[in-house]
Amino acid sequence: MNRNSINLILALGTLFLVAGCFCNSDRNTGSTRDDGPVFSNSSQPASNKTASKPSDPNKKSDSGDFLVDHEDVSTPKYVEIDRQIKDEKLLEKAASQLNAALSLPEDITLRTKDCKEANAYYDPNDSSVTMCYELMEHFYASFRSNGSNEKDAYSQMFDAVRFVFLHEIAHAIIDKYKLPIIGNEEDAADRCSAYINLEELGQDGVKAILAAADAFAIESKRNANAKKNMADEHLLGEQRYYNALCMVYGSNASKWEKLVTDGYLPKERAVRCPTEYQKTVDAWAGLLGPWRKN
Ligand SMILES: [Zn+2]
Repeated sequence: MNRNSINLILALGTLFLVAGCFCNSDRNTGSTRDDGPVFSNSSQPASNKTASKPSDPNKKSDSGDFLVDHEDVSTPKYVEIDRQIKDEKLLEKAASQLNAALSLPEDITLRTKDCKEANAYYDPNDSSVTMCYELMEHFYASFRSNGSNEKDAYSQMFDAVRFVFLHEIAHAIIDKYKLPIIGNEEDAADRCSAYINLEELGQDGVKAILAAADAFAIESKRNANAKKNMADEHLLGEQRYYNALCMVYGSNASKWEKLVTDGYLPKERAVRCPTEYQKTVDAWAGLLGPWRKN
């Protein structure tokens, strides 16, 4: 058994939530931020909402919404996943969850589409988060190549997408909220995704982080002999893998002791993860606090 297949220690669920984000590499051009997967057609009207003033003076006013944009898919092999995502209203559900939780100063558009590259990214030019179908396909192929059957690979793919999607949402809110980020924004976005997954999404959140960790590990192994891009703003896949495990372990060391005893997370790192996780929670809870609706 592959030691990196963290998800094998979890009961596999079939939940189909989308709300993740990811960051492989920022290969797209311009000033957009990173990584990606899929969607299609029907643009929603921009919201004309007037800023609702919160009664708590420490809260920010809400003058924007997470919106959904469906574009026509042009790649035949993505027609089915596109139809499924639309029929299941996955983006609409994610937008609704986010709108219930967070105030926004301006609209942020969520979309999935075929991008001609395996990527997901936040584009500050039109305030949109895009998940490319190619990235979803890439995840699915990775999990299949690592030994998962079709059904499991499909569900791991959606779990990893949830992590990536929230990573991209993190870039979007860092931009829109003008949050002060000290250090590497890519790492901050990973930690924001881990924070939301672990604090808000329960077991589905844990599955999202572990699926992303698996994807990082599979990718790292595949590229083991390739020259690493040390200049890239993303951390190395190996580091993102251990950081992801550290967040899960740190969120509940006794519950996730198996990550250490089974050799996934070295003891030397694990011992500091509860403190590391608490600092992440304190930082993101503080930064998002003024924008939270409840
Ligand atoms: Zn990123």
